[in-house]
Amino acid sequence: MKIICIGRNYAAHAREMKADVPTEPVFFMKPDTALLKDKDFYIPDFTKDLHHELEIVLKISKAGKHIQEQFASAYYDEIGLGIDFTARDLQAECKAKGLPWEKAKAFDNSAPVGSFIKKETLDLTALQLALHVNGEQRQVGDAKDLIFSFDKLISYVSQFVTLKTGDLIFTGTPEGVGPVKIGDVLEGYLNGEKLLTLNIK
Ligand code: MG
Repeated sequence: MKIICIGRNYAAHAREMKADVPTEPVFFMKPDTALLKDKDFYIPDFTKDLHHELEIVLKISKAGKHIQEQFASAYYDEIGLGIDFTARDLQAECKAKGLPWEKAKAFDNSAPVGSFIKKETLDLTALQLALHVNGEQRQVGDAKDLIFSFDKLISYVSQFVTLKTGDLIFTGTPEGVGPVKIGDVLEGYLNGEKLLTLNIK
């Protein structure tokens, strides 16, 4: 499986990163070794500024390429939450040099995910995500504020990369990203239901 991550998909987050609001989706990938489930996260020693980015995650349920937007909803069946961990200091270096940012984004365990929910049980027009750190709300967002819809993302990415069953799409983070430190407890909520708990070691 592969993990496809969308960048700058909430305008407020693009602004907080001092980046332009994109006119077409921006994506990058993390390898399967980035996936972390039901385990603690250990801050790697190559970063001094590790940031959380809480994101809604789509689980691809059948293979497809060149998927048309009007059929895209048939290609994912479950929704969950994940953290797109980012070594912000390394990312800033990569950006400044115009280099790819994999070492800041694609490192081992950089994509923790929680439980997934069947799509049919959710109202996809009213999805609110929230991240609490040590019980305090740090990020909150609403899928209605996505610049590019889930269907648009699936359609767009599949023009370039064949999607396969089990692939995950991280759909972008709302504003409020920030650093994590050893001892933090991260909790991700979707419509008030806790789907993700992560201990930072
Ligand atoms: Mg992200």
